[in-house]
Parts: sequence; C-alpha cells; structure tokens
Amino acid sequence: MAGREVTRLILIAVVVLLASVSPLPFKAQPAPADTIFIGQFLTLDHAHPHAEAMAVSAGRIVAIGSRSEVESLAGKTTRKITINGVALPGFADAHVHVEGLGEQLEKLDLRGLTKSEVLAKVAAAVRAAPAGAWISGEGWDEGFWQPTVFPTAKDLDAVSGDHPIVLARIDQHSVWVNSKVLSLAKITRDTPDPDGGLIRRDANREPTGILVDHASRLIRGVLPKPSHADRERVIRAALQQYSRWGLTSVHDAGVDLETISIYKDLLQRGELSVRVYAMARGEEAMKHYLASGPEPDLGNGMLAVRSFKLILDGALGSRGAELTDPYSDAPGEHGLQLVKDADLLQIVRAAREKGIQVNTHAIGDRAVTRALDAFEKGGVTRDERFRVEHASIVTNDDLARFTHLGIIASLQPVFVGEYSRWSEDRVGPSRIHWVLRTRDFLNAGVSIASGSDYPASDSGMPIATLHCLVTRQSAAGKPAAGWYNDQRVDVDQALRTMTAGPAFAAFQEKNLGALTAGRYADFTVVSANPYQIPINDLRTLTVRMTVVAGRVTFDAGENTNASMLLLDQR
Ligand SMILES: [Zn+2]
Repeated sequence: MAGREVTRLILIAVVVLLASVSPLPFKAQPAPADTIFIGQFLTLDHAHPHAEAMAVSAGRIVAIGSRSEVESLAGKTTRKITINGVALPGFADAHVHVEGLGEQLEKLDLRGLTKSEVLAKVAAAVRAAPAGAWISGEGWDEGFWQPTVFPTAKDLDAVSGDHPIVLARIDQHSVWVNSKVLSLAKITRDTPDPDGGLIRRDANREPTGILVDHASRLIRGVLPKPSHADRERVIRAALQQYSRWGLTSVHDAGVDLETISIYKDLLQRGELSVRVYAMARGEEAMKHYLASGPEPDLGNGMLAVRSFKLILDGALGSRGAELTDPYSDAPGEHGLQLVKDADLLQIVRAAREKGIQVNTHAIGDRAVTRALDAFEKGGVTRDERFRVEHASIVTNDDLARFTHLGIIASLQPVFVGEYSRWSEDRVGPSRIHWVLRTRDFLNAGVSIASGSDYPASDSGMPIATLHCLVTRQSAAGKPAAGWYNDQRVDVDQALRTMTAGPAFAAFQEKNLGALTAGRYADFTVVSANPYQIPINDLRTLTVRMTVVAGRVTFDAGENTNASMLLLDQR
C-alpha cells in the first residue's frame, strides 16, 4: 500500500515537472459532449448509413457511430437521451407558408368537406360570432362536390346574415366571398378584371363571388388588418405545429419585411424552434435586399434570407395556371400571367448581381417555359441554384432544360391528392403526362427539393409527403394503385428529396441533410423504419421526437413545448 502511494506521488511529481518545463507532448481531452442520443440512426450518409449513438456539442454532431465510441465522449455534465424509434436526418419542407398555417389554425378548416358541409360549418360560425364580424375559412375544394363546379356568393348569402365571409380555395389562389364582401369592396359588373386577376362572372357579367389571383386584392382594403402581435402569434403557432410534424427546417415561400423582423425577434429571444429559409417577396422586400445584400446565415443556420420569391402564374385548380394551349374544361381560358417577361428578366439580373437566388412559382407549362427562358437569358449558372417552385406541368423539352441549366425543381408530392381529383379535366389526356413528373425529374438528374405548399394543399405533414412520393397516393391513401404510378420513387430517393434536397436548394448541404460529424444535430425520430414497412403503411408512421441543433423541440412522450426548450439557443 505504502509503496504504491509513493510511486503515485513520484509520478505526479514527474508530470508536474514536465508540465512546468515544456508543454505536454499529448493533446488535451476534447470538451465533453452536451448531449448523447442513444438509439437507432439512419444517417443517409452513404459511407456510414447506420449508427447507435450521436454526441452533440454546441448544436453540432461531434461523433456518430457505435455506442461505445460515442459514449466515450461523455463527461459529468453530459445528458443522455434514449431515442424511442428510428432517427432520420431532420425533415425539411422546401415550400411552406408559415403565416398561412398559423392563420389556418384560427380559421374554419374546410378541407375534404362537401358543399353542404361547408355551408353548415359557416352557418354555425355565423351563429357564434359577434354581430357583423368577419368569418374566414379555407381549404374548400369543389373536387369533392357533386357537381364539381365553383360555388357562388348566393350560396353563402343564404347562411351569412350580416357577416362578411371570405373562404379561400384549397390552392389559396382564389377566394369565395358573399355579396356583403362584394358590396363592401364595391365589386360590380362594371369592375374590370385587374392585371393578373379574374372576377368570375355570370351570363350578365355580374360577379359570381369567386375572385381569382390578383382579383382577390380587390378586397384587401376592406379586410380587417392583422396587427404585429397577431402576426407574431400565428407564426409562433405555426412553428410549434412544424415541430409536432417532425420538421426541423422550412423554406417560407414569400415573406415581407415585417415577417422577417418577427423571425429576427424570435431568434434574438432564442424562440425560433425551426430553421427558416425565408424567400423575400414583394417590391419593398426585394428593394431592401437589393440595396443591403442577402443575409445567408443568421444564428447558426437558424434563419437565412438570400432568395426572392416571384409568382409567375396562378394555380391549376382555380384555372389560373398559365397554359400554352387552352384549358380542356374551359376552351377560352389559358390561365393568368402574373409577372411579365421583361420584369422577370430584370429581377433575375438584379438578383444575380447581389448573389440572391430567385425562386419562381410556375405551375402551368407556359409559366415554366417563361421561368426557364428568363433564367437562360439572364445567364444564370448552376452554382446559383435558381429554383422553379411547383413545376407542376412540364413539357419534355423543358424537362431537359432543367437538367442542362442546372435548375432545381421544388416539387409538392402531396399535390397528387388534389390533382388526382381534377387535373385530368383541366389539361385533358394529351397533357396529363406532363403533370407532377417526380420520377422523370429524378431520372433526368434534376435536383429535387420536396415540400408541401401547406396550407395550399391537403397536408403539411412530412410523413404525408413521404407517403405520396413512394405510393403516388393522396395523403388519405387514394387511389389504391397510385395516380400515374410510373412516377413513384423508392423510400431512399424520397427521403433524400426531403432532407438533402431542400438543404442543397438552400445552400445548406454542408450543415444539413445527413447525419455526419460536423453537421448540425437536426433529426426526426419516427415510429418505425420506413425502409422496412409495406409502402402503403408509410402514412401510418408517427413522429416520436424532433431535434434541432441538439435540442428537443417535440417529444411525443412528453408533449414538449417547443419554444420553452430553445430559450438558451442564442
Ligand atoms: Zn406556395
């Protein structure tokens, strides 16, 4: 005993001596990990696809691999969290409307309802509302009705009393209003269609109550205006919903400066619980960023503003999508052109000069062609990663141009739901093979970023996107064989378009999109291994946990409040 004690003292003396004479010849131990997560990881990293544990320090993965390897990084203060399920790189949605989702949570949800169910829901809301209050709803789709025709103001007048009523269609590209709103906004038979908009009319030119695209701006002046506090409240509600759905990043497809300032405030306060890649939209916001330049990384990848969103045409369901040949179910109509070619080219050139990416909404084949023309004429290079949002109807020639110009296709697989209900009526049999060409894009080597466009679609859940990509069924599982199922992709391809795809489309592939050491510790835990269940069961997967920068933003076991856990994230 005494001998051993003496040896130990000698050793300490030698070490102290060495240390005082010269720097130690060996490296200091790295700081212990903040958190170690233990469980099953599918990394989507080709070199090391499986892992048993992940160590996180300051928001980044410091080690991922075998449990013994990773646990050797534990220190006294390291938290250990066991994962109940299968962890995948954090799900990203490359096209959402954050405020739209937040507002939707406070509006009448009309998704999937028949017309009489819609009217009954409105009537109930009218009975509960204070005198004269506005009633707002969204998500109606005449594709669920018999017959499948657009509704009218008169339908609503029968149940609306003295209340103004505004109900957005599922695509958010047209609104159905009652006569009270038409009269408040002074929309009559003499009101001309605004540029890029359409007032649907009856045989006597009287407005029917459907306002398409820019025509809905005619009611802006009479709508109650949300306050800054209202806007912040709905944004926070949306961010919490994203965490519950398993999303770690969203690309917000069109925000103004006020929304960006709300994101910056949330970030400052450590309350931004989802990464936001915001696309600036509108003259004021574009002017601002052309003058001040982009903000590619605020708060360790939590917020980025380095892109513009432009809307070239409307939506197919509302017959606003711009088609080269007329609509099959409306021979006189070609859809709407919301931005002219010359303006588009000018914006593309100005944005390029400042290193700003341009993301153009283009649904109809004509609008897609115009977007690609502007990118080509504007000299856009592959490295600038310009995007076409939706790219829903694409000719073979344009498909080849996506590849050749290096343009990203930002697709919404969940559109299969809506499109299977009415797109064949809109475009007819000769053009139907141009619609939602996921597999064709992939085969052509085009970089795909999957998103939902929610609330302008049936579902904003990434599990629904995965299901739709792999089965070509709607979020509700229809039709059984899949809609034009030659466009299905496999589970691995689908997951990559939901992780690495959006990361690349946002210049974030070095930090996001796979689980490797050095990247941000963003992951989503689902209830089963998606590679090992029957594809028709994919939509039954549930989200067990969501983690952003190593912090749990949702835990199904605890129903964690997302914003609370991120308070010290700054
Ligand atoms: Zn959108």
